[in-house]
Amino acid sequence: MRIGVPTEIKKQESRVGLTPESVGELARAGHEVAIQDGAGLGSGFSNEDYTAVGARILPDADAVFKASELIVKVKEPQPEETARLTPDHTLFTYLHLAPDPVQAAGLMKSGCLAIAYETVTDAQGGLPLLRPMSQVAGRMSMQVAAWALMRTKRGRGILLGGVPGVMPSKVVIIGGGVSGTHAAEIAVGMRADVTVFDRNNNRLAELDEQFRGSLKTMYSTAHSLAEAIKDADLVIGAVLIPGAAAPKLVTKAQLKTMKPGAVLVDIAIDQGGCFETSHATTHEDPIYEVDGVLHYCVANMPGAVPRTSTYALNNATLPFVMQIANKGAREAINANPHLANGLTVDGGKIAHEAVAHDLGEDY
Ligand code: NAD
Repeated sequence: MRIGVPTEIKKQESRVGLTPESVGELARAGHEVAIQDGAGLGSGFSNEDYTAVGARILPDADAVFKASELIVKVKEPQPEETARLTPDHTLFTYLHLAPDPVQAAGLMKSGCLAIAYETVTDAQGGLPLLRPMSQVAGRMSMQVAAWALMRTKRGRGILLGGVPGVMPSKVVIIGGGVSGTHAAEIAVGMRADVTVFDRNNNRLAELDEQFRGSLKTMYSTAHSLAEAIKDADLVIGAVLIPGAAAPKLVTKAQLKTMKPGAVLVDIAIDQGGCFETSHATTHEDPIYEVDGVLHYCVANMPGAVPRTSTYALNNATLPFVMQIANKGAREAINANPHLANGLTVDGGKIAHEAVAHDLGEDY
């Protein structure tokens, strides 16, 4: 199959659809891969890295779209990209189409077949192409929090792990799912005093077993959280209620009960945030202060570590890209119900029931 990877053009996006390693695998399986000139630079891959594994470099996006049957991207197509899609194209990327009627109309008009990363499933009922980005955001949350807690950043002026003879900082993680667990792993590794809150008792039991006493778990209620944040140096918001906006678990009034210079990191900001005072920020200006408490609320945290994120995403997407390339998109979808769950636009119609419902389109 002829596969094309254009340069991502959404603002602040430096990831790329395929790593040179993935291209090498596809080339060994007999597929032709075209990469747009410089598409990998933001993730640290040169044109030569790609040509060395058998890719062709094409000068611009037009040439890549014209030369390819399968387009592999990261972010949803921008209008100028959608305009290049035809009924001969399969598009494989994050789409997040439900709240985006303009993009939906463009994709339907193009006649392309579009498969969305975010609704592809696995045998455990998980979302394997979303998981890597939650892993990145969870681990990164501790890195940014450690930095924000420094006095030079207006934080409490404490080291996450303390030192011998000085107490470590108290970390509260709300939500013990993918991102919360990865945040906890780094916090425990940095020797902080960590408590994870969740409403799922099975999850709390798994965490208790997994961490063997190196963190505490707590059932999440309004009361238990209110008590914990009074004493916390750092609170990580990592909750998710599938298909719903994040619940507001810390109110503005509660900030006054917290220690001055404490830090809130709201990973759930892409679902509206789980602190009442959260609003989305950017990597250029990530932190703001409300009532003496610092807030970090960047909605695309993985964008700051594009090389790690691109590799993590490719580890998850490559098996599906390979199936589409080997079998053709339709046969691959027929053969794999988990890939079929990603099917979102087909033959000018929305082909995913929940997305069609949210957009008010026929299904
Ligand atoms: P997940 O489903 O793996 O985990 C969410 C956890 O929250 C679950 O264990 C659930 O039981 C728990 N939960 C729900 N309500 C709760 C409550 N009231 N109190 C305590 N726990 C509660 O989700 P995830 O993959 O970790 O994602 C978490 C959030 O991070 C999502 O909104 C996701 O979109 C977002 N995210 C953000 C970024 C970013 O860059 N900011 C990157 C990746 C993911």
